[in-house]
Amino acid sequence: MSKPDLGIIGGGQLGSLLASAAKKLNIKTVILSDDKDAPAINFADEFIYGDYQDINIINNFLEKVDLVTYEFENIPYEILKKINEIKSVLPSPEINKLIQNRLTEKEFLNKNNITTTKYVSINDLDDIKINDKFIPGLLKTCTLGYDGKGQYKINNANDLNNDFDFSKGYILEKIVNLKKEISVVVTRFGHQKYEIYDPIENYHEDQILKHSKIPADISDEIKNKALDWAKKVAEELDYIGTMCVEFFIDKNNNLYANEVAPRVHNSGHLTINSHNISQFENHIRAVCGLEKLETKKIYNAKMLNLIGEDILEYKNKKFKENEFFYDYLKKEVKAKRKMGHLTTIEK
Ligand code: ADP
Ligand code: MG
Repeated sequence: MSKPDLGIIGGGQLGSLLASAAKKLNIKTVILSDDKDAPAINFADEFIYGDYQDINIINNFLEKVDLVTYEFENIPYEILKKINEIKSVLPSPEINKLIQNRLTEKEFLNKNNITTTKYVSINDLDDIKINDKFIPGLLKTCTLGYDGKGQYKINNANDLNNDFDFSKGYILEKIVNLKKEISVVVTRFGHQKYEIYDPIENYHEDQILKHSKIPADISDEIKNKALDWAKKVAEELDYIGTMCVEFFIDKNNNLYANEVAPRVHNSGHLTINSHNISQFENHIRAVCGLEKLETKKIYNAKMLNLIGEDILEYKNKKFKENEFFYDYLKKEVKAKRKMGHLTTIEK
């Protein structure tokens, strides 16, 4: 089977790590990014900078590739759909459309008997006032949120005034009394064909992932339920590639699906060092139709995200043989920006 040339939309750290995994498999990558300084320029074979809406840019990109995948879910559906008419897009644009909106995402999960947090659709201030049973809550934009962006804590219906712009569409989500957060990364290759990683335990600071570790310190019951739910999501979506389901566990040991990421996920970065096959390699294998190999954990591991200026002290640091430092080579250090990560394996 000849190997395809792979187009990747998005040039951040996920695109960079996908390109690195593709290189290992001798797959050529072409990255399309609307950021001329996107770090993936350092990792991909080719890099195209331009507006996703520019048809000439898109055509140039599509001439160079056999199929297309993406590193982030916030690409307008219409664009992905148009691309899919010319070169196949995996995971399919319909999946992205469903998942990129918190409302349709949560409806999909509940329809499949997967418990989510309690939430309600919000269109104006009165909606918040009459839904006080969701307070204390988080008001989240239905679309385009990430790393806690587009989220507002509501302790009281009067926390917002009439100037607040509701035109975007929001959900109000009841705050869960968190004991733990976990995530399950799964790669689906086709009908009932998976490679699934055991749950990863995650710790967030300011709604941004800070630490992850595998294995998660959870009961077998919760572990099995999370694995079953993640597989169910992948199967129901008819997903091809790597995806992730984020979960909350509350103080009473109830499990809730928080959100689905239709892409490789930050919590799965440690799989590069903990497993024989990383989430990135499995994604490339699945979308490019390569062989599915049994994925096994070799080491327990933990990962530390290097956010903002954290990166500076690591750039010239000496590392132990069980430590693996990844610098995303982002041009500008910014507060709350994910700049790199450090994975430590247990030998
Ligand atoms: P994002 O798209 O920004 O990742 P999330 O919904 O995953 O949005 O929220 C980011 C983080 O904020 C979560 O991982 C969790 O730590 C916290 N959080 C979000 N929603 C809730 C909630 N309903 N209850 C408690 N914590 C929450
Ligand atoms: Mg999240």
